[in-house]
Amino acid sequence: MYEIRPSFYFQISVIFVKKRTFNIFVLAFSVFFTISASYILIVPDDDSDKTVTSETVISANISLPDVSTPVLESLPEDQAHTIDEATNESTLVTLTHRIKKGENLSVIFEKMALSRKDLYRITHSNDLGKQFAHLKVGKELIAKTDAEGQLQELIYRKNAIETLIATRHSDNFDVAIQTKDIETQVASTQGSIQSSLFLDGKQAGLNDNLIMQLANIFAWDIDFALNLRKGDQFTVVYEKHLVDGHPVDGGEIISAEFVNQGKTFTAVRFIEPDGSKHYYTPDGKSLRKAFLRTPVAFARISSPFNLHRKHPVLNRIRAHKGVDYAARTGTPVKTTGDGRIIFRGRKGGYGRTVVVKHGQKYTTLYAHLSGFKRGLKNGSRVKQGQVIGYVGQSGLATGPHLHYEFRINGVHRNPLTVKLPHANPIKKSLLAEFKAQAEPLLAQLNKAKASHLLAQNQQ
Ligand SMILES: [Zn+2]
Repeated sequence: MYEIRPSFYFQISVIFVKKRTFNIFVLAFSVFFTISASYILIVPDDDSDKTVTSETVISANISLPDVSTPVLESLPEDQAHTIDEATNESTLVTLTHRIKKGENLSVIFEKMALSRKDLYRITHSNDLGKQFAHLKVGKELIAKTDAEGQLQELIYRKNAIETLIATRHSDNFDVAIQTKDIETQVASTQGSIQSSLFLDGKQAGLNDNLIMQLANIFAWDIDFALNLRKGDQFTVVYEKHLVDGHPVDGGEIISAEFVNQGKTFTAVRFIEPDGSKHYYTPDGKSLRKAFLRTPVAFARISSPFNLHRKHPVLNRIRAHKGVDYAARTGTPVKTTGDGRIIFRGRKGGYGRTVVVKHGQKYTTLYAHLSGFKRGLKNGSRVKQGQVIGYVGQSGLATGPHLHYEFRINGVHRNPLTVKLPHANPIKKSLLAEFKAQAEPLLAQLNKAKASHLLAQNQQ
């Protein structure tokens, strides 16, 4: 599934070589995949077709109306085949109904003038039949009837992959689900930030899921909310999932590069021997950091790290050796790094407190909790992001908030600005395997970038 197909290389060059504007690129991209997909359907076993030169296919992409390539010469046959099928079925009348709000199957059957008996037969045929009772607004229900208006086939396309079909057999119906194969292609795209990662990612042909992946991969290095700049660039090599030649959701990023304010970040996916997948830099460093920057989500900083702060309760100068996050009582508090709980209990003005030790050098502290996460105790191992307690105002606190401290070798550091260490790099024993996996992926990424550059220069 993850192997790189030879055809991929020619696809990239095809996509980029004659690109004039970004829009044409996106258009060409989708057109190309449509063509290549139908082409694959027509001549699946003919290897010689892979030698089609980029030039030929490019012209097929850009100037669709007057193409005379081997690729498109095959198309009429395919179309003719489709028409044949249509002719065979031409004795059936096809009725299409778009499901509206408030409609159920019996309402729709009435509107389509179909028999209630058939409705009963379909929904009571088998377990799948019941699925016809769960129709979604906006989708289509297709009924095929014979010349007498008797229902022969009822079709409901649940999603891009699954279609529910009820077929008449004399006085009864068989209901089955038709599942389409998902084809995975390796694709690449490049874009630059004009408004937001989301919009520009879409513009570059990435689906929501891939855009989220891209943001997550680089979230440790790039603050996508605050530090994105117009002109930042991204290149992504990813798995594109297609059904009948049309892109569907899914797929995963294989490698990616993000240039943020002139700084380049590169990520390559590595499939560990246990099947889990992680992203690393080309030299095997983790893209993740050993610590999350903040232990609570959706919180506001109510008091920063300040060694000369006047204490709000004690009303005298007392260093504030941590960061306060105002959040509602009960908001989950997550440990920012993998480690071991070395304190869990009440600690004077800190109130209910958890202290986690991370390796030899680092400890983090979480105070004023309203409660502790059940099941954890002194000595428990915790994973980065794991909930260890809940925001509260135990100890000396004027309102519910989390007081968070970060110490290196016992010295308090500002959690907001301290340089966070990288998570563990790739295991030494896996380094050779990683390099072997990464090399072609990086070559792919560079090729995508180079083709794009070439295309830009030819504009
Ligand atoms: Zn505090």
